[in-house]
Amino acid sequence: MAVDLHTHSTYSDGSATPGEIVAAAVGAGLSGIALTDHDNLDGIAECRAATIAAGIAFIPGTELSVQWRDRSMHMLVYFLEPGDGPLQSRMEELRRGRADRNSEIAQRLRSIGIDLTLEEVAATAGGTVVGRPHFAAVMIAKRYVATVGEAFDRYLANGRPCYVDRPRLAAIDAITLADDSGGIAVIAHPHTLGLTAPEYAAAFEELVEAGLGGIEAYYGEYAPELRARIAEICSDLGIVATGGSDYHGSYKPHLQVGTGKGDLRVPDHAMTDLFAAHSMR
Ligand code: AMP
Ligand code: ZN
Ligand code: FE
Ligand code: FE
Repeated sequence: MAVDLHTHSTYSDGSATPGEIVAAAVGAGLSGIALTDHDNLDGIAECRAATIAAGIAFIPGTELSVQWRDRSMHMLVYFLEPGDGPLQSRMEELRRGRADRNSEIAQRLRSIGIDLTLEEVAATAGGTVVGRPHFAAVMIAKRYVATVGEAFDRYLANGRPCYVDRPRLAAIDAITLADDSGGIAVIAHPHTLGLTAPEYAAAFEELVEAGLGGIEAYYGEYAPELRARIAEICSDLGIVATGGSDYHGSYKPHLQVGTGKGDLRVPDHAMTDLFAAHSMR
């Protein structure tokens, strides 16, 4: 059997509800999933209830954008529960930083002649965490661009005219706060960091010492050889090789729950190893 430990719902920048993601997971024959919405845990209760009803395993999670060296790294945090906790409190601040950033993005888009308001973007997001893909959706609806990718390439991506940075935790702090909050931090899609696989072990050693629990080895954007290579590196480092599709529904229409672009298969042990690592903390 297979699992999917990286999915986004309507509680961030996905278009499917947690219940729809669980239904898709069951349809794909998965034995378990994690929900990893950006910067919030608001969909966890709903998703957990749907997995219990469907009889598949569940891990609550979130995806944070953190600072590592001079770059942005995405960190998945698993086993983080809604409610009080050191990382949960910091996530509130991160959401405020995101809200400030969003009003600045709206202003910048208007200043270059794109007629759009933050209220319209928030309405598209449906009252949950607003991200750049929601800006892209409004720009598509108003025919400024044809695709989410075009909105990023022309306006929203880092280095483009309407990109606005936002406050981020340092990678080390995210790992420590995750640990202090009962969670396990895992580096998401490391190929976005501009390193080669042979550099990973040395580069991430410091993060492993701080409590890093895994690296996303099974991810659709890599060649199958790289997935196996990262899994090997995880094994050498004594951490878990996790994996997932990064499903976003219509915001990333080329990706499906479980199978990604079609060739992804995240083995069951990614999830059972993560449960085992959690029970040992
Ligand atoms: P935000 O949370 O507002 O920083 O937006 C980040 C999300 O935007 C990521 O999780 C991706 O889903 C999406 N994204 C980032 N870069 C691109 C890109 N170049 N093309 C399409 N989607 C992107
Ligand atoms: Zn996203
Ligand atoms: Fe990501
Ligand atoms: Fe993601």
